[in-house]
Amino acid sequence: MQELIQYFIQNSTALYVAVGLLSLCIGSFLNVVIYRTPKIMEQNWKREYHEYFHADQERETEEKITLSSPASTCPKCKSHIRWYQNIPVISWLFLKGKCGSCQNPISIRYPFIELLTCVCSLVVVAVFGASLQMVFGVIFTWVLITLTFIDFDTQLLPDQFTYPLAVLGLAVNSYALYTTTTSSIWGLIIGFLCLWIVAKIYTLLRKQEGMGCGDFKLLAALGTWMGPFMLPLIILLSSLLGSIIGLILLKKNKQSNAFAFGPYIAIAGWIALLWGNEIMKAYLG
Ligand SMILES: [Zn+2]
Repeated sequence: MQELIQYFIQNSTALYVAVGLLSLCIGSFLNVVIYRTPKIMEQNWKREYHEYFHADQERETEEKITLSSPASTCPKCKSHIRWYQNIPVISWLFLKGKCGSCQNPISIRYPFIELLTCVCSLVVVAVFGASLQMVFGVIFTWVLITLTFIDFDTQLLPDQFTYPLAVLGLAVNSYALYTTTTSSIWGLIIGFLCLWIVAKIYTLLRKQEGMGCGDFKLLAALGTWMGPFMLPLIILLSSLLGSIIGLILLKKNKQSNAFAFGPYIAIAGWIALLWGNEIMKAYLG
């Protein structure tokens, strides 16, 4: 392990190539996670609902969806996607964005997420260099990309991603990787409380829920990575991004009333982990 780290410290090109290729493959896996997690959650809710309200009745069994089964098929012709049709970005370009069997168009979102995962991971390498901060920064990036797209699609930030993100933040900062241990714990507490209070006030004033609980959990998770002092920057940046991008989306799509706030918190959190200290220094003079 030590030798491998030494090698990458001396040979930064190899590091970029290794992280670039790995993150392309991870991006391909994130596509599956983003697409299937909401379906798995829905299936679990239906099963729980049935067990709670209709426990005495027989329930027709449907095929259980997991991340690995059933195997990926074309949504239209149901033909299996072969390994060589599943190479990140390249397969999509080679197939000209169409299914190999029925010519049904394959969304450009798949190669886009693969490329985005690759580019964002390389930016983390450029900022942190060959270090543990880089390794965990890349993992942090992958989780945030997953959360961003799931929330964008479904307005949900699943606990199975926000909780582990918070636990990982506490764990890495028990070695003071990005901030001190104490600051990491306070980041968790204050991150959760500040949005929770905003949401309570909003509910009282408008008599309707304006914010999902997932938003506080995500902010709390970001707090464990960076500590409480980075939270104002994250909230400010996410509001700024949310109002700009939200307005553009609203203009394009008039009925998007329940727009997700999670993606903006995630993007702001990513910027804050990479450049937060520089931004704060520049801002505070
Ligand atoms: Zn097809």
